[in-house]
Amino acid sequence: MFDKVLIANRGEIALRVLRACRALGLKTLAIYSEADKDSRHVALADEALCIGPAPATQSYLNQGEILTAARLAGAGAIHPGYGFLSENAGFAAAVERAGLVFVGPRAETIELMGDKVNAKRAMLQAGVPCVPGSEGALPADPEAVRRIAGEVGYPLIVKAAGGGGGRGMRIVRRPAELDAAVATTREEAQRAFGNPALYIERFLENPRHIEIQILADGQGEAIWLGERDCSMQRRHQKVIEESPAPGIARAAISKIGERCVEACRHIGYRGAGTFEFLYEEGEFFFIEMNTRIQVEHGISELNADVDLVVEQLRIAQGQPLSIRQSDVTLAGHAIECRINAEHPWTFAPSSGTVTSWLAPGGPGVRVDSHLFGGYKVPPHYDSLVAKLMTHAATREEAIARMLGALDEVVIEGIDSTVDLHKSLLRDPAFMKGGCNIHHLEHLLATGALAGQARPATTGQRGAA
Ligand code: ADP
Repeated sequence: MFDKVLIANRGEIALRVLRACRALGLKTLAIYSEADKDSRHVALADEALCIGPAPATQSYLNQGEILTAARLAGAGAIHPGYGFLSENAGFAAAVERAGLVFVGPRAETIELMGDKVNAKRAMLQAGVPCVPGSEGALPADPEAVRRIAGEVGYPLIVKAAGGGGGRGMRIVRRPAELDAAVATTREEAQRAFGNPALYIERFLENPRHIEIQILADGQGEAIWLGERDCSMQRRHQKVIEESPAPGIARAAISKIGERCVEACRHIGYRGAGTFEFLYEEGEFFFIEMNTRIQVEHGISELNADVDLVVEQLRIAQGQPLSIRQSDVTLAGHAIECRINAEHPWTFAPSSGTVTSWLAPGGPGVRVDSHLFGGYKVPPHYDSLVAKLMTHAATREEAIARMLGALDEVVIEGIDSTVDLHKSLLRDPAFMKGGCNIHHLEHLLATGALAGQARPATTGQRGAA
């Protein structure tokens, strides 16, 4: 139905989508900002169009320009990658109105799941366990909010219904802090997400972040492809992910995976997606769904031997899933280290010319990166420059492979988080497995990691 795909993204994910298109014999149209004219995805695509200046609002978020590019080049589908317009329901609708295929869920689904209050309601209806909290959005009346907060119990977390990227959240430990926290978060939510709606959840003190990868064809078929443990976070941003999640019984994971599949059928889900949960004391609590491919999808691909981006494109073509649940076998252990162009301990963003880049290799090593020697890391975008993944029969072997691969990495001219990963993988608690979402922040705040010159300024511990 379509034979040319516009890739509405940049960096490593643009390359990832390009490779999936090639695997299916689809032509590719890259779009790029003036800052990205020398990028790999631009060089490798069949065609490329510059759509504006460096700031994302004028390029990768410029819906009109992207649609114009698709029309000019005759692209029949748009793959949004992650970030940028990937979870923008208005864009998905505009793509469909233009007679093109949006590689992702229907616009209504993105809208439903993008509002976390509505998403939680839909999940509860579908039998997916959620963090206990307010029913629906908070009322405006502070007295009514206090009453709801009292019922939920302290500590609690005030969250923006439209929030994302770890922003728009505030922990409240005592009733006296509630009014101010609600007011500030509401203001932030309005400013950052254009939606002042808030909700309250019980604050889980020491959870792990466990998520389930799903694929659904939009015609009633859905499968799940294992879980990912993304508990190694800094400021709610994932740093290392792994699969399977150490120490959680397979039966418990299967049960929650099957619930997610049920939920996909319930909401008529189409495409790839991720259900995110907090996991504490043997229980899973849904926090949100990501209606797109995720940064960390590769570790699921390594374990399941499925190309998730190819599946996304096939689903967008109206084809059935190429695998059934009974065909899904998860083998071995996979880990991903996100290598960011940042100082390994202060996390100050680093831009400039990469004077030298050598990627590691060998059995069970995968590198998804847009880097090359001479590449200029622009200061305008996300700092992710490479995803280093390893796969092996056991967790210990996957860690050993990762340590070897990190030692092989040569990245000069910019700062990178390679040294952080080297230390973190040797942390005794990480090596044991099963750390909670505060573990990395705790290590950083106490200066406990080898190589860390001094405690980094990591801000507040936990969700702030
Ligand atoms: P976002 O869409 O901004 O990523 P999430 O709802 O997925 O927001 O939450 C991001 C992170 O915030 C979680 O991974 C977890 O670290 C923390 N968090 C969110 N809700 C809670 C909660 N109820 N209790 C404890 N931590 C939470």
